[in-house]
Amino acid sequence: MKTSNETPQALVEKDQKNIWHHMSKDDANREPMIATEAKGSWITDHNGNSYLDGMSGLWCVNVGYGREELAQAAYDQLKEMSYTSMSQSHLPAIKLAEKLNDMLNDEYMIFYSNSGSDANEVAFKVARQYHQQNGESLRYKFISRYRAYHGGSLGALAATGQSIRKYKYEPLTSGFLHVAPPDNYRRPEGQSIEEYNLQRAEEIEEKIIWEQKETIAAVIMEPVITGGGVLIPHPVYVEKVEEICKRHGVLLIIDEVICGFGRTGRTFGHMHSDIKPDIITMAKGLTSAYLPLSVTAVRKDIYETFNNTEENSHFRHVNTFGGNPAACAVALKNIDIMERENLTNRAAVLGEKLRDGLKELENHPYVGDVRNQGFVMGIEMVEDKTTKEPATDQRVGKIIADCKNNGLIIGKNGDTVAGYNNILTLCPPLSSTDDDLDFIVSVIKKVFKENES
Ligand code: PMP
Repeated sequence: MKTSNETPQALVEKDQKNIWHHMSKDDANREPMIATEAKGSWITDHNGNSYLDGMSGLWCVNVGYGREELAQAAYDQLKEMSYTSMSQSHLPAIKLAEKLNDMLNDEYMIFYSNSGSDANEVAFKVARQYHQQNGESLRYKFISRYRAYHGGSLGALAATGQSIRKYKYEPLTSGFLHVAPPDNYRRPEGQSIEEYNLQRAEEIEEKIIWEQKETIAAVIMEPVITGGGVLIPHPVYVEKVEEICKRHGVLLIIDEVICGFGRTGRTFGHMHSDIKPDIITMAKGLTSAYLPLSVTAVRKDIYETFNNTEENSHFRHVNTFGGNPAACAVALKNIDIMERENLTNRAAVLGEKLRDGLKELENHPYVGDVRNQGFVMGIEMVEDKTTKEPATDQRVGKIIADCKNNGLIIGKNGDTVAGYNNILTLCPPLSSTDDDLDFIVSVIKKVFKENES
């Protein structure tokens, strides 16, 4: 629906009159960006301005915009068979589940839902019921990390470690505990990254012990904390957490909602370390957000406890739209594109080029750290490089606005527990061209150059 008889101003007025926007304070002075067209990494607004979408929407449009093959896949499937619930089955769901297991290189049972939040809610419910069925009904608590985002529904929000998003909606689901994640840039002086990461992992074990290990159901974590400021752990951290979980009978849930589907330069983010998660959640890049779909992949032997002879052992969870046939067909085609165009490898290559292009920003007076894993990057801004005092909202906001004025959309995240949003984030489509990459690097360098004082 790119054409409209209405003037841009009329559209803006109707938008402002009727739409309650996500996550933003709507006021009369704020003109929403009304996206009218998008192709590749570029998006055009109602005023005809084009922007390179350096955030792939909300970290999700991995194969880029405007793929006709994906539209065709949805169209064909909707014509052929538009819906059946997942109490039954259909061809795209069957094929997709098989494909996901190939990619995971293991045997998981695939449970379909609609969003990342849904997928995590399913993971929590599976974990609690699993322990109950194993005679360990006290295991109801979850450990996650401060700064992580796991979703907006009351359970997933309880797992989220960003108090600013939570405190007005309390009480949330009970039983969620938090520990600090590794933040390598801010580790204590004199400590190696490896030592520091091991120590952070051991804090999870301390938490388990302090809380009585018989009460802990699972640890949930993203391979890289993305929405909390792109915090990239050393591989020993993730491996140590897995070892601790195993030793204490605690399940390990890996949230691959952003890190999955090539984003970090591996098929899934957890594949940077040598672990086998018990439960894996996926969304966003699964369909590149062409249609809503999410997955909770559950290790086979956990699933099997739901199929014993006891009454009521089955998983009493249903959602109407989960596993929608068109969404599954789009996911299959999306994965096909990723493989054909080698986009996971492309993410690794582009990520390296982006780092090579922007690492020198660490010489800028207000940049403390430039870090990436694959094609997701954080640029941490500080007021003072020695004290690492986070940059003010004003300073960060100016860089974002200047980038936008130069045709580049970037994001910001941070330590929202403490109220800072001082980390610029970049998560462009994995299909970005070399020219796109040059554009990103040149705009960011130019904008920082203009903001040296
Ligand atoms: N997990 C992570 C890591 C996320 O980044 C998000 C969304 N940004 C979610 C879960 C929740 O996904 P959704 O918005 O689709 O519910």
